[in-house]
Amino acid sequence: MKYTNDRVPLRFDGGVEVSRPWLSADQHRAQRILRKHASEPVQCLCTPSGVPMHVVCRGGSFHLATMPGRAHHHALSCPSYRPDRKTSGLKHYDRSAYTLTGQNQNVFVSSSPVGAPPFSHFTPSAVLQLLWDLAGLTVCTPKILAKRKYFLVSRSLADVCAGFRINGDAMRPYIPLAFTDPRFCRYLLGGVRRICHGRYGNAIHLSADNDHTFWVDQKEWSNSALSEVFGPFDEPQWQRGYFIIARLFLTRHGNFRLFDSGLLRVNRSFLPVTVADEGFLQGLVDANRRFFVCQRYDAIGDDRIPLVVLIDRDEPLYLYSGQPF
Ligand SMILES: [Zn+2]
Repeated sequence: MKYTNDRVPLRFDGGVEVSRPWLSADQHRAQRILRKHASEPVQCLCTPSGVPMHVVCRGGSFHLATMPGRAHHHALSCPSYRPDRKTSGLKHYDRSAYTLTGQNQNVFVSSSPVGAPPFSHFTPSAVLQLLWDLAGLTVCTPKILAKRKYFLVSRSLADVCAGFRINGDAMRPYIPLAFTDPRFCRYLLGGVRRICHGRYGNAIHLSADNDHTFWVDQKEWSNSALSEVFGPFDEPQWQRGYFIIARLFLTRHGNFRLFDSGLLRVNRSFLPVTVADEGFLQGLVDANRRFFVCQRYDAIGDDRIPLVVLIDRDEPLYLYSGQPF
């Protein structure tokens, strides 16, 4: 899970260090200190080399502000961190596709093609990418990887889905190991363990779930990412490392059917990866580098988006596939 560490100290000129909670606990004290240091540089100590900030005066009161173009230089866990739009395909969606209301994420999803940007909706596969990102599963550090097991991935996704709405409705996902009964769920989310061609459609079984079978009919199979990845309906070929998201429907005969399926390929550390970039990414993992994976979402052709951002340097470094690191 992503977390915010607001205890990161700030260092004012002259070496005075304070934490953000201490500063915000007393507004009079905060204003006095910020006014005193208004003309001096401030360092946020969220990274080993620190990130420069400054004090600004707005409407008669003083505030801490990040220097222009430096918000993505903060540590991912720092309250001042803001992602650089250049590193994500999310910049290609218009406001109707993705909104944030309070703690709720609202996403408009459709299986129809997105057309040219700005996109007015997400495809199901892109929604899965968004959930992955929100759950902090694109981040890779040796410490995180040591803990990242299937169980924790399920829990992280479940936490994110709690505030996630699709086309205006609460998502209510069935996620093995996190939610136990799919009869009361509207969506399905999990690792694909097995696929069999059967008389009534193709049967999908999920990792960590020995109890349920989810059926996909021929029309849905042929018109979704399932046929692109697992091949023709009559002879599906299972591939390792795919997670699925789909709309879940319980028939009156008690069978689970899937619609509007999307897929995400992940490596054994659960990082999103394409077949072409898997070796490159594994090289970074083996070298114990700290980085996060950038996702293109539906902007598949936007090759200006880097593959990863290295975050173990003084400044974030954007890496493209095959580039030396
Ligand atoms: Zn910071």
